[in-house]
Amino acid sequence: MAKYTGAVCRLCRREGMKLFLKGERCYTEKCAVERRPDQGPGEHGLTRPKFSEFGIRLREKQKVRRVYGLTERQFRRYFERASRVKGITGELLISLLERRLDNVVYRLGFAGSRKEAREIVRYGHILINGRKLDIPSYQVKLSDVIEISEGSQKLDRINKSLEILARRGLADWLDLNKENYKGIIKRLPQRGDVTFPIEEQLIVEFYSRV
Ligand code: SF4
Repeated sequence: MAKYTGAVCRLCRREGMKLFLKGERCYTEKCAVERRPDQGPGEHGLTRPKFSEFGIRLREKQKVRRVYGLTERQFRRYFERASRVKGITGELLISLLERRLDNVVYRLGFAGSRKEAREIVRYGHILINGRKLDIPSYQVKLSDVIEISEGSQKLDRINKSLEILARRGLADWLDLNKENYKGIIKRLPQRGDVTFPIEEQLIVEFYSRV
């Protein structure tokens, strides 16, 4: 499936909840969900559809896929990878998604959204263990050091994002030294670290039936 390039607020309204796709705006009253909490996108937005069981599972999968900004193919690959590992597939899936470098850059506050984090990684502003790495899908490992390269530390977008980190708080599994623009993976993320409402079992059920 092709990458979605439309207005991102529409995606939140489609899912009926804030997915935090737009950085600072998501925390203001300009947020489309805050302004019209009961209205979906489009001309039929006022009549929210009732979903079948399949529809509920599909929506949950779409919601999580959109939160992490992945294409269907990418998301499915994470699911398949999680299914091959011993353990609870849904929980492993969330852990794999959390370990993406773009997500970690977002969680550390170097970017206001995961989309912005992806750009920051792609533009080469990030060092992992002292070496430049521009692959957003890189899976961070225990004790990895993630930092903003020296030449990029003055970038406005990065400093502004760090300012709003306090609103969402630093994840427990990360350490951050703001002055040095440096973060460390203290431990690998687990399902319980993600407080955003996700029913991962619905995603497992979705893929086991398609
Ligand atoms: Fe979603 Fe953020 Fe837009 Fe609100 S401002 S609808 S949370 S992307």
